[in-house]
Amino acid sequence: MPYRILVTYRPPGDALTRLADLGEIDLWDGEEAIPRAELLARVTTADALYSMLTDRIDDELLDAAPKLLVVSNMAVGYDNVDVAACTARSIPVGHTPDVLTDTVADTAIGLMIAAARRFGEGIDYVRQDKWKKWEPELLWGNDVHNATLGIVGFGRIGVAIAQRAAGFSMRVIATSRRRSSRAEVLGVTQVDFPELLARSDHVVIAVPLTQETHHMFDENAFSAMKPTATLVNISRGATVDTDALVKALQDGQLGAAGLDVTDPEPLPGDHPLLALPNAFVIPHLGSSTARTRHAMANFAVDNIAAAFEGRALRATVNPGVGPRRVDS
Ligand code: NAP
Repeated sequence: MPYRILVTYRPPGDALTRLADLGEIDLWDGEEAIPRAELLARVTTADALYSMLTDRIDDELLDAAPKLLVVSNMAVGYDNVDVAACTARSIPVGHTPDVLTDTVADTAIGLMIAAARRFGEGIDYVRQDKWKKWEPELLWGNDVHNATLGIVGFGRIGVAIAQRAAGFSMRVIATSRRRSSRAEVLGVTQVDFPELLARSDHVVIAVPLTQETHHMFDENAFSAMKPTATLVNISRGATVDTDALVKALQDGQLGAAGLDVTDPEPLPGDHPLLALPNAFVIPHLGSSTARTRHAMANFAVDNIAAAFEGRALRATVNPGVGPRRVDS
């Protein structure tokens, strides 16, 4: 019997062709993300799950998937996966680190500049035909160069953001739970979270979404930040309490926000955040370049190929787990 691979969205490039070489494909090709009931029904016969960040992989799903040998998430973040539940069933979980780091770091810098320099308002101004003359005081923003950048989560992407910030002569401070050997080399000062909030002119969130980081940016965090500060989120939407963010942006507690990720996601077109001039929101484009998305798609295929061959995955979040023994 060939392996069956449940693919929850159409991946770019030749990933699907490569998957077809590994087994029989069951592709969800709907306009919206695969509905939960459909996912639960289709996973019953799957040997591999090629998943995306909106697919919740939990006990319920795993109980419905007696044959599942591997979960391969086409993302570096894996907050959609209950890793302990997979480990308990000897199912390795693959993800796609490194290949997207630089692209996401570019996005963070872009959002920081766009939000701090009010590009969203500028675009609206032009589109609304308000641009009638050059005005010396039109849409003043806040400088990025020579400012203090606070990076929350100094891992692969956080480090890549710090490297870019050096080119803008920024002072960079960062926070993560452990000391980073890269910090000293890059001239980055590691500080605790309250100090980072108090000192930063611009803050970028680059932590994974965990129980600890859920709503890390709440009312208290916003009241500890400079009222002119820019908040950039390229992590996951739920690291920020969206209601508190709307209020902080409305009340002038925070200067501006540049968001690649939101909670909820997708953000409905009539969401209050989108009515705020100082919120610059893009639809989770962090890793969205052809080269990077192809690399991620192929990485996720490599993880499935390795699992089928009984090898260690190219990148796994539960090393040493598997192969699962399945009664035929
Ligand atoms: P990474 O290398 O694992 O870095 C994460 C960093 O966060 C680590 O330095 C970690 O250090 C720190 N951290 C974890 N929990 C923390 C906490 N409670 N407080 C402070 N720091 C904490 O991951 P990465 O590759 O840089 O990716 C980071 C995240 O970005 C992913 O998990 C994903 O959610 C998101 N992402 C988004 C996009 C997008 O398209 N927008 C694309 C890729 C990734 P310690 O363990 O020492 O604390």
